[in-house]
Amino acid sequence: MNHDDLNHWSKRAADWATEYHRTLRERPVRPAAEPGAVAAELPAAAPEAPESPEEIFADFERLVPGAMTHWQHPRFFAYFPANASPASMWAEQLANAMSAQCMLWQTSPAATEIEGVMVRWLAAALGLPGRFTGTIHDSATTATLSAVLTMRDRATDWDASRKGLFGGPPLRVYASSQAHSSVDKAVGLSGIGRDNLVKVETDADFAMTGRALKEAVSADRAAGLVPAGVVLCVGGTSIGATDRLAECLEVAKDEGLPTHVDAAWAGSAMICPEFRGIWAGVEEADSIVFNPHKWLGVQFDCSVQFLADPGPQVRTLGMRPDYLETPEHGDIVNYNEWTVPLGRRFRALKIWFTLRAHGLEGLRARIRNHVAWTEELCGIIRTMDDFEIVTEPRLALFTFAHRGGDEATAALLEKINSDGRVYLTQTRHQGRFVIRMTAGAFDCAREDVMSVAEVLREFA
Ligand SMILES: *Cc1c(COP(=O)(O)O)cnc(C)c1O
Repeated sequence: MNHDDLNHWSKRAADWATEYHRTLRERPVRPAAEPGAVAAELPAAAPEAPESPEEIFADFERLVPGAMTHWQHPRFFAYFPANASPASMWAEQLANAMSAQCMLWQTSPAATEIEGVMVRWLAAALGLPGRFTGTIHDSATTATLSAVLTMRDRATDWDASRKGLFGGPPLRVYASSQAHSSVDKAVGLSGIGRDNLVKVETDADFAMTGRALKEAVSADRAAGLVPAGVVLCVGGTSIGATDRLAECLEVAKDEGLPTHVDAAWAGSAMICPEFRGIWAGVEEADSIVFNPHKWLGVQFDCSVQFLADPGPQVRTLGMRPDYLETPEHGDIVNYNEWTVPLGRRFRALKIWFTLRAHGLEGLRARIRNHVAWTEELCGIIRTMDDFEIVTEPRLALFTFAHRGGDEATAALLEKINSDGRVYLTQTRHQGRFVIRMTAGAFDCAREDVMSVAEVLREFA
């Protein structure tokens, strides 16, 4: 295959993509795939001789789309969305054509500079003060890992990266029991150890309070342990819980502890001023992560971390071997020093295209619809005899259960997902098996959300 073939087959791929999106509603959201079925169709080893694009494309069409869960399906209500605007997919094609490795300004001047501007545009769009800079990661997990590694290094006077964590008293990181598992993973990977992630008790609204945080930190100090930082949750994955940010950030400041806010999903909704109350006080945080790939329409993967001061993170993660030295002077940024991997994709381009092609007003309208439709659906399910709303809508997420108990709820979920018209997933809340409902697909319409009630009526 050469570049002339690429031209032809890219156009074929674009035609395929248009048709795919146009007919997505006709497909089941989740395929009826049997484990191992696709692998069994593939030869045992790579071909020795080149094969034709015709054969390759035919196998793609035969094997892949029918065995994929369709994340861009308008009735995808599982997990959190990973929604992709048409503009972001278009940008991704161009980034793909250049396939640049954006580790240094010199290896990618435009990508680096657009990244800086996009982070500032997004900070302003979310209502954050102009002093925030930041960077783009692949995922919130990586951003949170970067923040926790920085907490570790700060707490050890920058010794941990060089000497390791031997000998000193245990470091402690604080988060609520609603925090995402990526926080546990980050604390484990950092060498602090998952047992030293303190899951602070939450209040009746499943929020960590300043008082509970203060008590946990004081108890640790009294026991000779070393508090290293606080991770706060805004729109937790399970039920959308949000910590009391202003109080907790004040306590952290009093205690001299760095803070990281995980708003991976809910952060996108902060482009709507009326939702910003849930993270009031956030401007005092040191680090904030949100995933434009979840709810803002920027094609996966794209996670933005805002930093009040990038200095400590760059000091923790930045490496400058001889072979990465470049001759520029002046005001340039080498973003690899802000992130865990050296290699970096050109993710800023799809943010730029999305913000321009859809406009903040277009993106706000979508999120407002998702929230309103989710509330409307919740109201309908509340009136159905067989169901109970377990947690109320927080932005576009609520949970419910069958009144018959965990087994009935789990059986119902399996039935719904095998049917394929909609796709929902579960969580455990206070020991109960509950179904999560969250609307957020880019092309989701009101009828798509309301179709959940229809399916529930049929299967209850
Ligand atoms: C989805 C999610 C994450 C993990 O996101 P990745 O980008 O997949 O690593 C972390 N925290 C919260 C609150 C999330 O919803």
